[in-house]
Amino acid sequence: MKIYNTLTKKIDDFVPYEEGKVKMYTCGPTVYHYAHIGNIRNYIGHDILDRTLRYLGYDVTRAMNITDVGHLTSDSDSGEDKMEVARKREHKSAMEIAKFYTDAFFVDFEKVNCRMPEIVSPATDNISEYIKIITKLMDTDYAYQSGGNVYFDISKLDNYYCLTNQDSNLVIGAREGVDEDSNKRNQADFALWFTTSKFENHEQLWDSPWGRGYPGWHIECTGISLKYLGEHLDIHGGGVDNIFPHHTNEIAQSESYLGHKWCNYWFHNEHLIDESGKMSKSKGDILTVSVLEKQGYDPLSFRFMCLGSHYRKQLLFTYDNLDQAQNTLAKLRNRIHNLKEDGPIEENLFETYVSKFKEALENDLNTSNALAVLYEVLKDSDINDSTKKSLVENFDQVLALDLLKEKEILSTDLDSEIQSLIEERKIAKMNKDFAKADQIRDDLLARGIKLIDTREGTTYEIIKD
Ligand code: AMP
Ligand code: ZN
Repeated sequence: MKIYNTLTKKIDDFVPYEEGKVKMYTCGPTVYHYAHIGNIRNYIGHDILDRTLRYLGYDVTRAMNITDVGHLTSDSDSGEDKMEVARKREHKSAMEIAKFYTDAFFVDFEKVNCRMPEIVSPATDNISEYIKIITKLMDTDYAYQSGGNVYFDISKLDNYYCLTNQDSNLVIGAREGVDEDSNKRNQADFALWFTTSKFENHEQLWDSPWGRGYPGWHIECTGISLKYLGEHLDIHGGGVDNIFPHHTNEIAQSESYLGHKWCNYWFHNEHLIDESGKMSKSKGDILTVSVLEKQGYDPLSFRFMCLGSHYRKQLLFTYDNLDQAQNTLAKLRNRIHNLKEDGPIEENLFETYVSKFKEALENDLNTSNALAVLYEVLKDSDINDSTKKSLVENFDQVLALDLLKEKEILSTDLDSEIQSLIEERKIAKMNKDFAKADQIRDDLLARGIKLIDTREGTTYEIIKD
């Protein structure tokens, strides 16, 4: 497989440390709020990577953290811990907040068919691991204590900026709103451990050799990855905004601790943007997958929309784009639904198309080309339906669009048609034109759509024939 590697800044052949096995780590959510659809695009990107590696036959072990402490409102060391912000906003304990938003996250994660990593670990479960790593970094002079906190000294490294193209001044200059921290030897040094000298009222605190306090954000990913996946990591994923400072700092502390190279491939997803720019959790109303579902969208229409574009390109979210994805997916499912069992699998054709599908994915996860192969299969008049069905089933191991699942998906067009008929029936009833109202109900029923009158109004249900 070929994959773009942020470390080498080119498309590389993917070769894991151990033949046939892949150790994969992806940064998880900060659970101080709902995960918006931009965050979910990122996890869909990781899921495609994860599923593709398995599809290609690798034995994958994947770990993901849950950030429930230490992530400050800026990605550097200024601002307040995001969990503290949520605690004040919602008047609950940090742990209650973390539990609520972790659960909400996994509901949406599963709605878009992201497979669960083998290891999911909250940052707060691994404090002793961070203390062990920081202790060694202190002993080897990579870290120092100042003003109560412990910092990593980036001047000890020749190649601290290995993931970014920028020189150090540019990177520091780009971080708007970052306060100077007089405790730091170099302004780009980063915190490994905070004590209460930084935030007095912090709720989550642990004892450490440097005083009672809590870990910085970056150390959690190093700690969890080393604990569960060992000293050699094959591939590490995140969003493009994680390249600096988060992943840059992960490399600095991990490799200084280990004394050797840590991770060979760095995988980054571009953002989902809306018409006003990048989506973010702090920007008022949060558009989640569950909200889209309440609006009548199938969460997998969102997944389908994401797969239509390359993970290294920004994707613009608009309702028009989502409507289009929902309609196209409904038509695609319909077409697949009408395939018959009509004979034995044509092995040669099956293999030819599987190779084409693999080729698309092996080319830096070109999901839109992979979808094009699916359309090619459906259009090919030289293959029987049984072979087509088997190919759809095979491709869906990666696409995960429930292409063969028996479920009635409404296109947005059909939904709005039903809504206007419901409205027409309501008006007919108000005008005491019961014959017309009943006619609308019966016509819909004949199409397999049952109207349900409730005190709140009329809804409908699709009934199977
Ligand atoms: P957070 O929960 O804030 O730590 O973010 C979780 C992940 O979502 C991070 O890896 C970010 O890189 C990623 N992310 C944040 N905003 C977007 C966006 N608009 N589009 C895609 N990914 C995003
Ligand atoms: Zn991380």
